[in-house]
Amino acid sequence: MNRTLPIYLDYAATTPVDPRVAEAMIECLRDVQLQGNPSSMTHEFGRRARAVVEKARAQVASAIGARADSIIWTSGATESNNLAIFGAARFNRDRGRHIVSARTEHKAVLDTLKQLEAEGFEVTYLKPACDGIVHVEQVSEALRSDTQLVSLMHVNNEIGVVQDIAAFGRLCRERGVLLHVDAAQSVGKIPLDVQAMNVDLMSMTAHKVYGPKGIGALYVRRTPPLGLRPLMFGGGQELGLRSGTLPTHQIVGMGLAFELAQRELTSDVARIKALRQRLWDGISKCGDVELNGDPEQRVCSVLNVSFHGIEGESLQFALSELAVSTGSACASASESPSYVLRALGRSDQLAQSSLRFSLGRYTNQAEIDAAVAAINREVARLRSLAG
Ligand SMILES: *Cc1c(COP(=O)(O)O)cnc(C)c1O
Repeated sequence: MNRTLPIYLDYAATTPVDPRVAEAMIECLRDVQLQGNPSSMTHEFGRRARAVVEKARAQVASAIGARADSIIWTSGATESNNLAIFGAARFNRDRGRHIVSARTEHKAVLDTLKQLEAEGFEVTYLKPACDGIVHVEQVSEALRSDTQLVSLMHVNNEIGVVQDIAAFGRLCRERGVLLHVDAAQSVGKIPLDVQAMNVDLMSMTAHKVYGPKGIGALYVRRTPPLGLRPLMFGGGQELGLRSGTLPTHQIVGMGLAFELAQRELTSDVARIKALRQRLWDGISKCGDVELNGDPEQRVCSVLNVSFHGIEGESLQFALSELAVSTGSACASASESPSYVLRALGRSDQLAQSSLRFSLGRYTNQAEIDAAVAAINREVARLRSLAG
């Protein structure tokens, strides 16, 4: 069988590994001198492994304007979100049991908060404006004397809207409330500076930034130090916040991926943005389409589009030559319409006739032109069948 693969427009679900990253990881796995346990400081094998782990820690820290010792390795943004939210909430449970978040957060945040509600915490879920934006005034109004944590994402994974984290940071710092940010989708697309943005906790993952799956990090503010109750207990690695043997080759991959993301951010963004504009111009020719989320305050790579008069699933089926998604990868297994689009006030039906197109480092103009041709052809065909 020699079927051609679809055009990959699903970078927000995961990205391919950059060949330079793959090379570094393979080299690390092949190097017998790096096979020691990075926590074994009693011999040279351990110390060499530790050195490359610490180099990667510095690379990740540098990409977000942080101190290297504020980076804790995890298995990905899901674990980072769990560690940040459970960790802060449980550590500070006597300071207050109220948390502020939003309806459009990733499930890794929402389901963690749901667990905390079962433990006696109270959560206010802000409803964003119809353009997907959470306004700082909403956050301010939601804060109470017993609020201990605000958890809001930087870039939304389904619609690509960018929140004003610096404004949330100023507010939270002023009111003495911790701010956690899920930044899984913003590394490499928006310059990040945790100090300037007054972020206390920030979740990151490698596989949305051309690194490997299964490795992530949590930024934990160090000055003044911030307490977290761990999720994993054992060998006491990562300052006791995340026990378990460090996966050296995964960490090396994430470090290089973040260094490349930082170094190539400006050129990547300019190129991807131009392609996204070309895609949107082409899709607009279908007529009766709506862009979901603010048209300006958005990341360079994502377009979420509602097609009037068509069922989303029939469109996705008709567009089998494109690898796109109807929502987040995790939610699209279920039939229900996207909760993010529902939170923006879209009807079930319109939410269901929406597709997310996400572009990345390897998207080229020929792919965009082929995608536009397929979309225009299939939308016209499905509408004529429906009409
Ligand atoms: C992908 C993603 C996650 C989950 O990250 P994993 O590393 O796959 O666990 C969390 N939040 C957002 C916004 C994401 O896009």
